[in-house]
Amino acid sequence: MVARAARATDLADLDAAVADCFACPRLVDWREEVARTKRAAFRDQEYWGRPVPGFGDPAARIAILGLAPAAHGGNRTGRIFTGDRSGDVLFAALHRAGLANQPTSVAADDGLTLRQTRIFAAVRCAPPDNKPTPAERDTCAPWLHREVALIRPTLQVVVALGAFAWAAWWPVLRDVYGHRPPSPRPSFGHGAHWSGTAVPELLGCYHVSQQNTFTGRLTPEMLDDVFARAKRLAGVD
Ligand code: SF4
Repeated sequence: MVARAARATDLADLDAAVADCFACPRLVDWREEVARTKRAAFRDQEYWGRPVPGFGDPAARIAILGLAPAAHGGNRTGRIFTGDRSGDVLFAALHRAGLANQPTSVAADDGLTLRQTRIFAAVRCAPPDNKPTPAERDTCAPWLHREVALIRPTLQVVVALGAFAWAAWWPVLRDVYGHRPPSPRPSFGHGAHWSGTAVPELLGCYHVSQQNTFTGRLTPEMLDDVFARAKRLAGVD
């Protein structure tokens, strides 16, 4: 799997390869079981039920790093943050920021495009309870690392959605940029900002999960501030 990720010469090749990954037995079982049993509201739909590739501009200056696909969102539609409440909040904010051509993301063929922005997850398969194990995170890391390597020429800023994504970034620094991660690691927080030399700026943002958005812990205004900052740092107008 590591070798297959490393061999990917472009994003299309990487996307095809990751969609065919079976490296984590627990997650393979879960993604397929969810796809078989389905949620009642989607019982007439064919679930994707496979790893979910990254999505967006191949020349992205801004990357948004999430945790993992949602069982009935990305695992159903085949596109990250698509078809669930988290995506509703995220893409509405990206549209307000001028980084998405539409405020909704409901299906892989809905016409959504991103401008200078790419979205991907640290773990590419939906995990039970949205909680991948450390071993699953590490097993999946080569896919993330290769994706970052492929957009490295343009990438300026990474927005980490939540502490899991924030923690997943440090090994990327080492493996993709040859940059020793800071020690101790900077703590995650909403609005946290870490800068290194010749590596992308890292911004922390609370995850767009319902737990955060329904309770008001993360508001649309807070997301607007993060994306305005990301655009400024990335030189995106
Ligand atoms: S989580 Fe990642 S490494 Fe594990 S099966 Fe899915 S794509 Fe493969």
